[in-house]
Amino acid sequence: MLMMPLPVPQSAYQSRVSLNEVSKSYGGRRALREFSLDVAAGEFLAVLGPSGSGKTTALRLIAGLETPDEGQVFIEGRDVTCVPAEQRDVNTVFQSYALFPHLNVLDNVAYGPRMRGLSRKARHARAYDLLELVRLSDAAMRRPHELSGGMQQRVALARALANAPAVLLLDEPLGALDRKLRCEMQRELRRVHSELAGTFIYVTHDQEEAFAMADRLAVMREGRIEQVGSPAEIYDRPANAWVARFVGGANMLRAHVDRIGRSAMLTSRPGLIEAGYFDEDLMSGDTALVVIRPEATRIERSGPTALTRTNRLAARLLHVVTAGPSRRLSAVTADGSVFDSIEARKPGMSPSHGLAPGNPVFITFDAGSVRAYRDDWFA
Ligand code: ADP
Ligand code: MG
Repeated sequence: MLMMPLPVPQSAYQSRVSLNEVSKSYGGRRALREFSLDVAAGEFLAVLGPSGSGKTTALRLIAGLETPDEGQVFIEGRDVTCVPAEQRDVNTVFQSYALFPHLNVLDNVAYGPRMRGLSRKARHARAYDLLELVRLSDAAMRRPHELSGGMQQRVALARALANAPAVLLLDEPLGALDRKLRCEMQRELRRVHSELAGTFIYVTHDQEEAFAMADRLAVMREGRIEQVGSPAEIYDRPANAWVARFVGGANMLRAHVDRIGRSAMLTSRPGLIEAGYFDEDLMSGDTALVVIRPEATRIERSGPTALTRTNRLAARLLHVVTAGPSRRLSAVTADGSVFDSIEARKPGMSPSHGLAPGNPVFITFDAGSVRAYRDDWFA
């Protein structure tokens, strides 16, 4: 915990947040639909979803900048649905730093405490503490325009923390930074989070960023939550085909369900498929979406007499790309389904593995890495 020269409230940084069946429309367009989410005290939760899925709206409801049409918002167990933003003890970091250009870094950070009537000495002491937390004490006397984008975003972070908010909200805060700086800032934010043991709710459309940073993810689509879970749960056991595709590469195929037993047996145009995992309510006769991760997919040279069988699809190689530590192959089946495979490169491995585009290959995978979902993509 950060040592503050001044007492900060018990709830500082570390409150629980809940949204209970919250709906919000703008002129007939529903931005959030019966949206529920529980964020634990001290948790780093990322809300991940495509642009327009309602992420910012959810944050604005927590901050008190919007009132829901239905449902409630709780902070530390208290119903704050009708409490105005100024009384919510929540702060937000945005993509635009919006620092005061005429104030130096110290006074930018001390601004919130000043508005709350802290003495000059007390607010400067707190601002110095926070600048130390974000490793910018040396820049205290500089003006924002003298700092790089990454430094300005760290000042914005320190400023948002200066009033010791119960919860910190971050709305795509790294969106304006270039890739290298973004990675650096991701690490910084994780460090600051663990030093404060604070509740951070972090909104992003960037799945890599969400996976790199968060303890838990809430995946959003069209105003709803599709899945909440740890990064590993969401990647390994996506709740549906949409989530599977949104979070990382996925080979996908439509197939007819022939039989359901311990595994699901399916017929697709390129061949027979056995899926070790399937939706509980999937029945024989249904159409399913079959999902296989590229790292669980192998693309291999086929022998002259080899036959297609279950989980082994005849195809032609499209291309091989060597990308640093991994090798990616793509192949297309006779009906036009494209599969990608990713494998780690072993030392001494020839880049193409003796394969050339157009060569006959097999696409193979184990039943244990195949998931079959109900085909409700367009539902
Ligand atoms: P995200 O942050 O995930 O990109 P938003 O929460 O900003 O999504 O927006 C969700 C939906 O609500 C979008 O369709 C957007 O156009 C709409 N919306 C958001 N804010 C307003 C507003 N103030 N007025 C009208 N429509 C809005
Ligand atoms: Mg947004």
